[in-house]
Amino acid sequence: MARVSAGPCQGPLTSVRGAPAISVTCAGMREATTDTSTQTIDVEYLGMTRYIACCLLEGDGPAIIDPGPTVSLGKLEEGLWRAGLSIDDLGSVLLTHIHLDHAGAAGTIVKRNPRIKVYVHEKGASHMIDPERLLASAEHLYGDQMDVLWGDFLAVPKDNVRALSGGEALEVAGRQLQVAYTPGHAVHHVSYLDTSTGTAYVGDTAGIRIANDPFVLPVTPPPDIDLELWESSLQKIEAWRPERLFVTHFGQADGVEGHLDRFRGHLHDWATAVRRGVESDASDEQCVEEFTASVESRLNESVSADKVPLYLQGGAPSMSWHGLARYWRRTLEAT
Ligand SMILES: [Zn+2]
Repeated sequence: MARVSAGPCQGPLTSVRGAPAISVTCAGMREATTDTSTQTIDVEYLGMTRYIACCLLEGDGPAIIDPGPTVSLGKLEEGLWRAGLSIDDLGSVLLTHIHLDHAGAAGTIVKRNPRIKVYVHEKGASHMIDPERLLASAEHLYGDQMDVLWGDFLAVPKDNVRALSGGEALEVAGRQLQVAYTPGHAVHHVSYLDTSTGTAYVGDTAGIRIANDPFVLPVTPPPDIDLELWESSLQKIEAWRPERLFVTHFGQADGVEGHLDRFRGHLHDWATAVRRGVESDASDEQCVEEFTASVESRLNESVSADKVPLYLQGGAPSMSWHGLARYWRRTLEAT
């Protein structure tokens, strides 16, 4: 039986509405702008700010993208409330993937408002309808901390689920959203492009980047990591020519080309380092220790000290090492 990836994979509310998100310079070049027609809700997961960003798409039948886990639902509701909304007003929940830190609250939200449609990749849909295997896998990782870390992960009734395969054009919250299947981080990962704003919601496909830091941290947990599929997913996102990315950890990220270049560079460096360890005589424990030290050192050089714990929370280096090691062992065995 295949293992199911459970996760984690590893701001304050902005409330300006309706402004156009694209500006054109006098030279005719598009310059980076903030998408002010959507709102970032910081769900303040376990008291951490700038860790999990839920996006609110206002409009006819408002939608949220990646609600986070049930344990932080109260803060999500506060964010909706500040926008003059409640769960009763929502029309859709869009999931980038089913890791607990992204999708955990979906079932609880649907229980509160049974009119909500939940969009999810077809490979994740069955786990949202019957989360037993997903939760068993998560319990393996988190043991008796499940309730504290995540809270309820309720099933979503089948009739509420809209399974996606990629390539769809959705009309959600009065907007046109394109869907792309973007595996690599997880086999059940999709990304969404809001064609009215040029914002691409890419979940964990483009790593962790907080407040437009110059650093982008890949997140590569077991069991689904696949570098070839990941590259093809990045190319799909680039083909959209998005104005900006929205990464769940954390929020809007501008300079798409530079962001993806840095992400690719770090992912390549990590993959190379992990492959070297897997092919050496060193134990996994030694490799993890060395890898963790190198990631921490790179983070300390690149981002402010207050953000280092946030990057490490989302992109736990030990878990990322094991995800890449699993990929390499599978790949090398097959050759
Ligand atoms: Zn994830």
